[in-house]
Amino acid sequence: MRILLLGAPGAGKGTVAELLVGRFGIRQISTGDMLRSAVTAGAGLGVSAEGYMKRGELVPDALILGIMEKRLQEEDCKKGFILDGFPRTIGQAESLKKMLDKLGMKINAIVNLEVPEDVILRRLTSRRTCSNPKCQAIFNIFTKPSRKEGICDKCGSPTVQRDDETEEAIKQRLKTYEEKTAPLIEYYKHDPAFVTAPSFKPEPAVDAILARVGR
Ligand SMILES: [Zn+2]
Repeated sequence: MRILLLGAPGAGKGTVAELLVGRFGIRQISTGDMLRSAVTAGAGLGVSAEGYMKRGELVPDALILGIMEKRLQEEDCKKGFILDGFPRTIGQAESLKKMLDKLGMKINAIVNLEVPEDVILRRLTSRRTCSNPKCQAIFNIFTKPSRKEGICDKCGSPTVQRDDETEEAIKQRLKTYEEKTAPLIEYYKHDPAFVTAPSFKPEPAVDAILARVGR
């Protein structure tokens, strides 16, 4: 089972991926984690990637795909994988397709996780983070409130709303995502593996995906 997971920040990709990992016994591959492990392994393409990351630059697509090509052939990806957060552009999507074709790997489901903007806003603006840099515990005023409002359970420091989690900041992030990803959705829309999972709860989204892949 090979799945591409697309969705805005706060759409719940992590939770859906976790359910699919459990359901199919497949591996979740996020670009960030993959690059970090390649760098830690300290060999081959990982060394080149490290240079870019140390300079705070974007790792070029060709390098990401090279690392990914190796990663997807490892033992733990035999049953399949979920690619999370990649591709983000049409260029990446085209290169990914070429690479997978070369490996003889077919994508079973391209999932567009569609969550209404107000749900995402509510989800992300309700987060509170401990202001103590050594703690950084995360709370949620609706789903996981701290015992004492505004105070971290773990260390007693004040909890704050991060600058990038205010309503204004999140609206901006969603707008950027929309602009970047809309063409990608357009690109995949006619692929027989494409499925839109319209849901603000993870389970129905997973059901839509299962229905798509016939399980
Ligand atoms: Zn704390």
